[in-house]
Amino acid sequence: MQEIKIPFNRPFMIGSELGYISEAVESGKISGDGLFSSKCHQFFQQILGFKKVLLTTSCTDALEMCAILLDINPGDEVIAPSYTFVSTVNAFILRGAKIKFVDSTTFNPNMDVNQIETLITSKTKVILPVHYAGISCDMGKIMQLANKYGIAVVEDAAQAISSFYKNENGDLFPLGSLGKLAAFSFHETKNVISGEGGLIAINDTSLSQRAEIIREKGTNRSAFFRGEVDKYGWVDIGSSFLPSDLIAAFLYAQLEKLDVIQKRRMDIWNLYDQHLKPLSERNIIQTPNIPEYAIHNAHMYYIITKSLDDRDNLIFYLKKRGINAVFHYQSLHSSNYFKDKHDGRNLNWSDHYSERLLRLPFFYTLSDANVELVAKAIFEYYI
Ligand SMILES: *Cc1c(COP(=O)(O)O)cnc(C)c1O
Repeated sequence: MQEIKIPFNRPFMIGSELGYISEAVESGKISGDGLFSSKCHQFFQQILGFKKVLLTTSCTDALEMCAILLDINPGDEVIAPSYTFVSTVNAFILRGAKIKFVDSTTFNPNMDVNQIETLITSKTKVILPVHYAGISCDMGKIMQLANKYGIAVVEDAAQAISSFYKNENGDLFPLGSLGKLAAFSFHETKNVISGEGGLIAINDTSLSQRAEIIREKGTNRSAFFRGEVDKYGWVDIGSSFLPSDLIAAFLYAQLEKLDVIQKRRMDIWNLYDQHLKPLSERNIIQTPNIPEYAIHNAHMYYIITKSLDDRDNLIFYLKKRGINAVFHYQSLHSSNYFKDKHDGRNLNWSDHYSERLLRLPFFYTLSDANVELVAKAIFEYYI
């Protein structure tokens, strides 16, 4: 087999990552909530406009914090898409929640909002939209249902930094700012990276103080360091969810260059789209469908093939040319862990994307020439 010339992902540095890591060490503090953690918090709050955010060691951790913050108890119900990453729902399973999976839409892998209302019961505590590929779910409809039934919304915005939801008046809202809580990821495959890393956005600021406590092993250490209490101790449950300041230093160097990263990613995305659109116009594959209400962030370029066999063959064809394209989620409702817990409803669209969706190589340093090479290989496979 040909060696991989174009990997699916490649981590990158864009500027001051190593310099900031040295600065963090020289500052005399590299545990959590040092100089660079606070710079990252300020970036999200002052530049991106979030009310209150806290860095975490991963998006998985941020989601676990959400489940603790919302007092999820055994038997509480959570409505989530089946086509998502394990962490989205595992965080709530850890608190004893029962998951009611929703199917994907016919036009993209996001949750089908028209199927939510029939799943709501008196036990429903959370609706958990996942903005797949940084493309907004129909948040207008989701927030309307959540308000009608008094249910919290937690956005899995792992892939959605710099994406927006547009309402009917044309007003833009950053993804992750609409639900009560939201979780972001800085895993090496996301737009802005720190290896592993995440962030919780606390849009209902009545939960801020408790979020700080849960993140600091159940202690009021944060309030103590601000001089708000004269000693700190154990006041609630929690864990160690805060990252080292070394991680925050790497991350801050990337956040500073968010505009540069996003501009390049949009160019890559548009180049793929320009080259592959003709195949979708001829109904040979499907390219990403961006609804009117979504301003996406070029997190991912995916295509939908005709069948599982078609996808397997294409993956093999590309691999022979040194190109690594990868499939993505497998429906969680039929996973080994969950299949016996599922209520038996068919979730055909989730299965559809599980079998047919293919992610193309996508990272900041991917060249135009290599994007064209990938697109050309896909063309040659089909035509
Ligand atoms: C990446 C991802 C996660 C997990 O993020 P980590 O930072 O690796 O914990 C969760 N949900 C979605 C939708 C993701 O894409």
